[in-house]
Amino acid sequence: MRLLVIADVHANLVALETVLRHASSFDAVLNAGDIVGYNPWPRECIEKVRKVKAVSVLGNHDRDSALGTPVGYNPYAEMACLWTHRALSEKERRFLLGLPNRVELEFEGVRLYICHGSPDDPVDEYVFPPPFTPRSRLQSFLARTKAGLVILGHTHVPFCEEFESGVVLNPGAVGQPRDHDPRASYALVELERGCVDVELRRVDYDVERTARQVLAAGLPSVLAQRLFFGY
Ligand code: ZN
Repeated sequence: MRLLVIADVHANLVALETVLRHASSFDAVLNAGDIVGYNPWPRECIEKVRKVKAVSVLGNHDRDSALGTPVGYNPYAEMACLWTHRALSEKERRFLLGLPNRVELEFEGVRLYICHGSPDDPVDEYVFPPPFTPRSRLQSFLARTKAGLVILGHTHVPFCEEFESGVVLNPGAVGQPRDHDPRASYALVELERGCVDVELRRVDYDVERTARQVLAAGLPSVLAQRLFFGY
């Protein structure tokens, strides 16, 4: 079974469509949160994520944009959050708020645990790759969730850490990478009889088109600029 794993789409439809094309064939899509925020296509990205029947969890931007109450954001993220709140219909806000904090499921004999933050704080905690987060803590996620594959998002920094007991994966951000590589980030995961095989992938997308639309929408220009640098 081949899974497309995405996170932090952040209303970047151009990047999302590019990733879906680039991944080409997959049996299911898993989305570790933050469909909306920052970029100009929140409604279209919600529609696309639903169309591909992605299994999605709630991200902090999904929650705060739906509620229209940004807390602890920098000024640009706050402006984007309020912009997104106004852009969404009541139905779309309800869809976002209906997303679960975490999803646990099983495919091919592998238990999966998906959240945006961490198993300790599923929506809001940032789990950066080692050495920022000790490998022992990542390993504890596998033990606690009893999963063979734990999928996180939120930091926009991809990583894949393997242990005897399983794999902890952050596919990076589709819509706003922050590891100084502007290409859209995602993962393909092959599951076969209890085994997990992860491939982290990057793909160029039309950054200029997204940046132009960020500006045309009246979103802060810094949100357009950062896309070219991947931070
Ligand atoms: Zn995010």
